[in-house]
Amino acid sequence: MLLLGMCVFGLAAALFVVFKFSDIFQLNMGATRERQSERLIRQITRALGIAEKRVFDKARQLEALSRRLAASNLTLEDLNNMKSKFLSMVVHDVRTPLAAIRGYSELFAKSVETEKQKRMSANMVSAVDRLNLLVSDLTDVAMIEAGKLNIEKKPFAFGSLVSDLMPSIEINAGNKGVTLKYDRINPKAVINGDTFRISQVLQNLLNNAIKFTPKGGVVEVSTRPEGRRLVVNVKDSGIGIHPSETKRIFEKFYQAKYQKDVNLRKQGWGLGLSIAHEIIMQHGGEIGATSQGLGKGSVFWFKLPASFSEMRIGG
Ligand code: ADP
Repeated sequence: MLLLGMCVFGLAAALFVVFKFSDIFQLNMGATRERQSERLIRQITRALGIAEKRVFDKARQLEALSRRLAASNLTLEDLNNMKSKFLSMVVHDVRTPLAAIRGYSELFAKSVETEKQKRMSANMVSAVDRLNLLVSDLTDVAMIEAGKLNIEKKPFAFGSLVSDLMPSIEINAGNKGVTLKYDRINPKAVINGDTFRISQVLQNLLNNAIKFTPKGGVVEVSTRPEGRRLVVNVKDSGIGIHPSETKRIFEKFYQAKYQKDVNLRKQGWGLGLSIAHEIIMQHGGEIGATSQGLGKGSVFWFKLPASFSEMRIGG
């Protein structure tokens, strides 16, 4: 902006000089006007001097500004690195005791007798699971911020990934009273990617779909080819998303504000979709969400480069 301003000012000054010189030319026609022309020249010289000083001052301001910007960028980068290191240290220190607590909770759950004790121990196990999930999401965020999220690509059949994942997702859907459909998966789609990470994305979208769909609803995962890409859709009949938030929910820590159910919000941290976004980007793909509005369900989709072989790989 400053540079633009300086250029415009320079141009205006040059035009001013040209016009004034043509005035001078006319004035020179008469010897009596000589004094007037001298005055004009002095005025122009003064104007040019002022213009020059302004340009110089602006350039100096710009220089100082860019020096300050460079310095604060450096500080920001240092702070960001410190934050990432701190995050990975905390995550590491929390992980080990959590694994022990998970083990003891399961042991305890097996030994209890009364219904109340069973309910309490089930709550304890799911609380530990939630904490574990948070810790692993935070680990991923720390790795993403440090630019160290490892993606190991090799070809795999997308259909096999879905078959491997579904049993655990079905338990989750069953507990919630939500019907899960997945019979429209292209069996020929092969993706060159990180199976673990792509599975993490699909798992996240499906668990979200189940979480945000009330009892009696339907969640369906389906695929379709689009040129040399595979489009994966996760459609639900749940609470939907306000149109102004379908992009923002992919930001780190963002949870939809228009959704009124505070309890649902408390069940998460707004990290899953930002991690999913990063994973899909690192595979050269795209991810997004659409919704007809609040109460009208949502479709989460991602597109990945794929080949469609005649052979069926895996089960
Ligand atoms: P979390 O679910 O842990 O809050 P996510 O990053 O997975 O974090 O999702 C961010 C937000 O996007 C959620 O808090 C919710 O507001 C919205 N969202 C995600 N999936 C759905 C869905 N299937 N239906 C409606 N809203 C959703």
